[in-house]
Amino acid sequence: MSRPQVQTLEEQCALKGMRMTDQRRVIAQVIEQAIDHPDVEELYRRASAIDARISLSTVYRTLNLFEEAGLVTKHDFKDGRARFELIPDEHHDHLIDIRSGKVIEFRNEEIEAIQEVIAKRLGYQLVDHRLELYAVPLKPDDTKK
Ligand SMILES: [Zn+2]
Repeated sequence: MSRPQVQTLEEQCALKGMRMTDQRRVIAQVIEQAIDHPDVEELYRRASAIDARISLSTVYRTLNLFEEAGLVTKHDFKDGRARFELIPDEHHDHLIDIRSGKVIEFRNEEIEAIQEVIAKRLGYQLVDHRLELYAVPLKPDDTKK
């Protein structure tokens, strides 16, 4: 099976029939370039640095739109702010450094497998999961970003 060509968020929006304004385009680009699971405020800072006319409420609305369209996913890492990222091509889980707020992505095949086994034992077929590890660095040195 050939993999469909990876599309930009903007192209995916267009495919979903979403009307893409300049502002939405900027917000889409900002999300796409983010590798740090930013919250709305941070996305607003980045987007308004590119186009000063973009307001916080536009960022909120656009994020909701992207989320409803299944293009962006929202995370709650227990620090009181929703974080956003693109729906990844490959599933991954997150480790959250509760001191620095840094988010690290990982994937572990043993964890993936054991979760399927657990669901199966309970009489279910696993279709999705979320796993978040909350952690502090082992050495004080590791707190430096
Ligand atoms: Zn992630």
